[in-house]
Amino acid sequence: MANRGGQTGRRNRHYGDSVGNTAVKKFQMIDISDTEEMEYPAPRKVSGTRRRDREDDMPYRRNVEEYPVRRRQGEEYPTNRRTKREVPERRRANAAAIARRRRRKRQRLLAGALLAAGVIVVGGLLGTLLWKVVGRFRDADVLSGNTREERELIRENDTKKPLIKEEFLTVNPYSRPAEPLTEVRNIFVHYTANKDTSAEQNRSYFENLGITGERSASAHFVIGYEGEIIQCLPLDEIAYAVKTRNYDSISIECCYVDENGKFTDATYQSLLQLTAWLLREYKLTPNDVLRHYDVGGKKCPLYFVEHEDSWEQFRQDLTDYIMEE
Ligand SMILES: [Zn+2]
Repeated sequence: MANRGGQTGRRNRHYGDSVGNTAVKKFQMIDISDTEEMEYPAPRKVSGTRRRDREDDMPYRRNVEEYPVRRRQGEEYPTNRRTKREVPERRRANAAAIARRRRRKRQRLLAGALLAAGVIVVGGLLGTLLWKVVGRFRDADVLSGNTREERELIRENDTKKPLIKEEFLTVNPYSRPAEPLTEVRNIFVHYTANKDTSAEQNRSYFENLGITGERSASAHFVIGYEGEIIQCLPLDEIAYAVKTRNYDSISIECCYVDENGKFTDATYQSLLQLTAWLLREYKLTPNDVLRHYDVGGKKCPLYFVEHEDSWEQFRQDLTDYIMEE
């Protein structure tokens, strides 16, 4: 910078532009005799000098293009050309790297999605399994954790046949179709849905259906609120009691006096005795005793539907009753 001015002055030149190389863009001091310095406009008028200088300038600039770094900074040659050659390669490399990254990202996303799906499926399976195991334990609880031996005892229980008054209905299409009952898989408990009516009255109602043809209904047994048991149908005939299960079940109707449908103690005791005996007869367990409600959802027997714990208690009492015998 010291020797500025005049024909031998120095000039600031944007070296990078002259070779089209953006990588080495910076200002360099170049020894030329150009006279275009803003601060020293006067020498421009010397046209001869200027022409000569320009001629000298060309080879010099070519020289700079070929050996820019070594000349200026003493570094190794030739970064310039190599950079030029490498640009497309680098671009390709960069593009490949980006593609690789995207591919990896896609793979990571896919792996994540698969993992999530796997977790959901496995979780669902485990949940279902757990639910079933818990359900089985809950069912088994009705038999209060009885051993296999005790369960056999329940099946083979020696409950005596309770006192039963046999008053079979007259064969008719509405309450005694006289169709054979060839297997018994469940015992159904009902309530008469007619407060304060006796066992005898309910039996008469079934009998009258054969005359009126009002509707189809019947049950094998009716237990009165004083505990009396009336048998309306032989056990090898079906009743019209549980729409879908008439051909493989036995039904017991229970009378009641309480508004909420709760059975009297006498009715409850007779029900225990009668079901225990039927379980023995058909080699069933307390789990096989169902509410009408359990098949079809009808609110029957009302109290046992609205008081689930009372129903569970009944099945527990049934187990205890059999075990005490
Ligand atoms: Zn019912």
